[in-house]
Amino acid sequence: MKNDDEEMVKYIVNAIRCSLFWDESWYKKTYNISDDINALNHYIVEGYKMGYDPSPLFSGEKYYENNPDVKSEGINPLVHYELFGVEENRKYKVDTHEMLEFFKNKYPHLRMKLDGGIIRVRVTDKCNAKCRYCGLRVGVLGECHEHMNPDWYMRLFRPIYEKVDQVLLTGGDPFVCKESYSLMEMLGKEYPHLNVLVETNGMMLNEKYRALLSECLYTIHVSLNASNRKVFQESCWEGDGGEVFFDKVQENLKKYVALLESRDMLCFAPGYSMVINKDNYYDVIDFAKLALSLKGKYITYYFDYTENDMLASYFTNPEIMRPTLKKLMEIERVLARYILVTFRLWIPNKEAETIQKEVDEETDAELQKNMRTF
Ligand code: SF4
Repeated sequence: MKNDDEEMVKYIVNAIRCSLFWDESWYKKTYNISDDINALNHYIVEGYKMGYDPSPLFSGEKYYENNPDVKSEGINPLVHYELFGVEENRKYKVDTHEMLEFFKNKYPHLRMKLDGGIIRVRVTDKCNAKCRYCGLRVGVLGECHEHMNPDWYMRLFRPIYEKVDQVLLTGGDPFVCKESYSLMEMLGKEYPHLNVLVETNGMMLNEKYRALLSECLYTIHVSLNASNRKVFQESCWEGDGGEVFFDKVQENLKKYVALLESRDMLCFAPGYSMVINKDNYYDVIDFAKLALSLKGKYITYYFDYTENDMLASYFTNPEIMRPTLKKLMEIERVLARYILVTFRLWIPNKEAETIQKEVDEETDAELQKNMRTF
């Protein structure tokens, strides 16, 4: 019997030690617990009775409020939550903004935001593509090799999902991470009000994911980057294998679009993006054609940051970028009735206004003519 009790105590101590809601340094600092006291034991045995919380993310008082049966039995709220509450889907109420502030301060490199009701969930730092300008690989985003702990997005973020409108799943490529399927499934089943947007290169958009996405009505944003395998290999891919990758992505997308079409759900078709550089700028018109043939909901063009000084007011590479921007504005005007076209310059570019004026002044006949070639 004594052994059983000892085992139980060990089990509880371990559960709290591993809990996402236990923050020892915060506890010691907040409640002035000296170094000679075991803070974990203090919380488990007496701290909770004094109204102390295990971290700013878990309020014992609010847990009791939501679960009066736990309060009446006088059980430590976090012990109850970890041992039974998770399984029983008991509510722990937290202030969403406080929670996000906590994460943002603790993990600033993850660039968490809650602007306009969107939360950005960085599911993985892995990607199976080899884009030569990948921000993750060269570390420009300051967050390479960092991703969120699945426990955060599967458990901790639940109160946040209830309150936001949109969840952006990003990476790396979320589809290469095995936890993504469970996350997408959970969001679809338990938070049907959410718009979920997934950023991907399309390579792992297999049958299983296609079925789930079309069921849950999620939108995917696919980095396609070229209108054909040759341009893709030459302008996007580092090393060999780009053509095969491009073909597989096309195959996946065609199947996905056909599935959506068969269910009369093309309004949930993917959006496509292209990063423009010196090796593919002439491909922007054909890229738009490809996006249209794949029933794209929108097209986004980006200028490659590795080839342009993003702090400049004028293009670093004007021979290419100036006519390209003009072409994008023409594409936008011509396709305005069919598809949303956006382009990102990253910074306000002084040339943009002049170029826009030139495009606005073109006649329809001039526009049509300009669309035939770059
Ligand atoms: S698809 Fe995106 S994350 Fe993957 S290598 Fe290309 S730029 Fe990087």
